[in-house]
Amino acid sequence: VSGRHDALRFASVLREFLTVAHDAVARGVATWVCDHEPFVLRVHDSSVRQPRPTLVLGTLIHGNEYGPLEAVVPWLRDLAPSPSVDLVVVVANTSAAERGLRFVDADLNRLFVPDDPSALVGAPTNHGHEQGLANVLRPILSAPEVVAFVDLHQTIEATDRSFFIFGFHGHSWDLAQRLSQGVASTLVTRPPGQAFVAGQMSGDELVRQLGRPAITIELGQKGFDDDTTRRTSAVLGHLQELLNKEWPQGGVTRPEASSDLEVFTVLARVACDGPLAILHPGFVNFAPVAKGQILGTGHGGQPLVSPHDGWLLFPKYPQRDKAGAIDGPLPGDMVNVLARVSDETLEGWRLPGAHYSLLSVSR
Ligand SMILES: [Zn+2]
Repeated sequence: VSGRHDALRFASVLREFLTVAHDAVARGVATWVCDHEPFVLRVHDSSVRQPRPTLVLGTLIHGNEYGPLEAVVPWLRDLAPSPSVDLVVVVANTSAAERGLRFVDADLNRLFVPDDPSALVGAPTNHGHEQGLANVLRPILSAPEVVAFVDLHQTIEATDRSFFIFGFHGHSWDLAQRLSQGVASTLVTRPPGQAFVAGQMSGDELVRQLGRPAITIELGQKGFDDDTTRRTSAVLGHLQELLNKEWPQGGVTRPEASSDLEVFTVLARVACDGPLAILHPGFVNFAPVAKGQILGTGHGGQPLVSPHDGWLLFPKYPQRDKAGAIDGPLPGDMVNVLARVSDETLEGWRLPGAHYSLLSVSR
């Protein structure tokens, strides 16, 4: 019931977005880059002809993560074009959103492999609806004028906090700190160049691989959610401050007064070894776990055990058929176990030698 209600509410948010966008186009302060799914709107001073530094804001890369868009629409209505920076707003998977789904055929946020598919081993070739979306969005994200990408998401299961999540990259780290106040004080990261899923690529990975700051923010649990609205509004306020200035040469630097983010990394993934693998019910993001704690049951009936002390991230509770088997594609893992990252490790990742090298690492 709540799923249907959310889908109806989404339809009205999308109509509002289209009204605001058409109005901005009519006033000459925006142009459509793509006026159908995936919707892409460029907010800019239309008297300026050449491409300018461009900030890309992503929403609805996952269809049922409606929450951020609801805060973006009123912000967009009142937004004047920046004197020096173009803003590109993406509203990606409206077909999945209308059906209350994360995706129709395949997870869009795994399909941003570069144009040459042979660049990554095991690169997907055809994933139906989402492949079409990725084909439109990939050149927009990798355009030379893009100076930053901020992708707004929500978690599937409940979370006790919002958080940034991206592979470690100095400029992205600085951008996250710049956006953190009132938004999130936690970063989940991984060593520079390590793919989130080997052989696949998310939108932020594509942009970081080109050396530009790109971050994903998980703003709350999926759907319409007051915490998400409040935090998204805070993100947009910070972005507006950046849009009101010249885009800094050499990237955004962290504000002097900022406090550091609490940093975690994935230490282990509890494998999904077959369709009968199942987690105990009720795990939420950042739930603490102890080494040896039984988290569920594997496909063969063996216990699924946490190999470390830490915190859980992205517990999976997929749909099941009557026999209890996972209905649809198996998840890559049942849950991740996080550990804290020391300041020493982070300093190492910040060294110039630790540059972004996703392609070579994924091979
Ligand atoms: Zn998402």
